Amino acid sequence: MLKISVQTIREKGEEFFREIYQERYLVWSGQKDESNFSAIYEKYSVLSSKETIESVIEFMNKAGEEEKKSIRYILEFLINNYEQMQVKELNDNADNIESDATVIFPDGRKVSYYAAQIEMMSNKNSYLKTWWTEEKIKIMDKINPSLEDIHKRTMKIPEELGFSNYISMFQTISGIDLYKLSESMQDFLKKTQDIYDKAIKIEYGKPETFSSLFPEDAMVNIIKKLLEDMDIGYSGENNIKFDTDTREKKAGNGFCAPIEIPSKIFLVIAPLGISYRTYGAFLHELGHALSNIHMDEHTPFEYMRLGDNSVEEGFAATFDHLIYNPHWLFSALGIKKPEKFLRLMFFRDLSLLRQWAAEFIYEIELRKTEELKGKGELYKNILSNACKGEFPEAMYLRSIDPAFEIINYIKSALFEPVFSAYLEKNYGEKWFNDPAAGNFLKNLWKIGKKHTLFEILQSMGIKDFFFEPFIARLNKYLV
Ligand SMILES: [Zn+2]
Repeated sequence: MLKISVQTIREKGEEFFREIYQERYLVWSGQKDESNFSAIYEKYSVLSSKETIESVIEFMNKAGEEEKKSIRYILEFLINNYEQMQVKELNDNADNIESDATVIFPDGRKVSYYAAQIEMMSNKNSYLKTWWTEEKIKIMDKINPSLEDIHKRTMKIPEELGFSNYISMFQTISGIDLYKLSESMQDFLKKTQDIYDKAIKIEYGKPETFSSLFPEDAMVNIIKKLLEDMDIGYSGENNIKFDTDTREKKAGNGFCAPIEIPSKIFLVIAPLGISYRTYGAFLHELGHALSNIHMDEHTPFEYMRLGDNSVEEGFAATFDHLIYNPHWLFSALGIKKPEKFLRLMFFRDLSLLRQWAAEFIYEIELRKTEELKGKGELYKNILSNACKGEFPEAMYLRSIDPAFEIINYIKSALFEPVFSAYLEKNYGEKWFNDPAAGNFLKNLWKIGKKHTLFEILQSMGIKDFFFEPFIARLNKYLV
């Protein structure tokens, strides 16, 4: 058996991330036509081989408690790579069908499926909504055979790697008790049912009506001022590189590419049509970028690149929720009466978390067996019981991210209100103007993802948290 040391995995892993992010930056920002991700995975095939995984499991079993934690992150990374490699062609196939797909709008326009998705995000015309659902189903019918094969292939992986099934493999490498979390999320759905039933009856007005409050041409300067006020824009020699240029093939959503941490970090943003969404996306990616630029350059690989990913998501959510903060809205944009806007935003927050909770509960059922019979119906039932909206059976695989990634989003959404309240309590309602708050954040960012989300909260004196703070804030704005 080929033996590879953990140190070599760390070194190769770092090189791998640099290449992946470099490629992602060029392709997604519209500066390179053909993507080459598969070739990078091939080049670093040692990071996805069964032999490497077996060596690491052997090493982990002998390791002490503290070391076990960091090795588990490495194992999680390797197993995810292994999964990716097994389904690479099937994934490419599904992606290609989707990126080549076009739809013809009832008014005769022929538009790519991706562009139509963006257009339909802000379209409230009920006739078009029905048409759009039908179009999506037609495209999913073409993609689903590949996605079904991906599912079947993925479900064979645990056995190949010495685990009894997918659920137990995930629980072992993540340390998360899926069934306990599922019970909590069922409880969350129950506890927010009344407020949700009331909130869906409110007339919120069209999202575009709020666009004039968020002038797009002022955005970059407003963000730069935030960085200056908190004294968080620079770290030594480094600063974040903003990519705000318009390019034809630039992805319609923001992203952060930490190519080299902490010295080469790109924040890419493109207008999303509705300006407050662009502000939200920019601030979200800013949270990602900041937690990378302030990381110590000697942070070990597993806490620099791996670790508990909900931590970085939590910081990103804290920054994107500045547009939910009446003090920031007034201070940065001069918005005096944000109540109507905030009601819309908190309804969005509630709807989104209810949807994530339902998707997570469904994903456990999906990952239990290879069998897919009845899963489309199950998806539709679980989702439409939790949220208003169309959840066609045909989306039962496409709308689910791999390997319970949804948990990071759920955790970050629950962390954000607790963390924002902590900042406000300790640094005042204008914490976003205070370099002392900036300093507190810089100290948290310095160590990378060494601590889990729960450990960070414990270090702030918060012993126990779950969804009560999230619900308390909804009660303030929605009822
Ligand atoms: Zn994010």
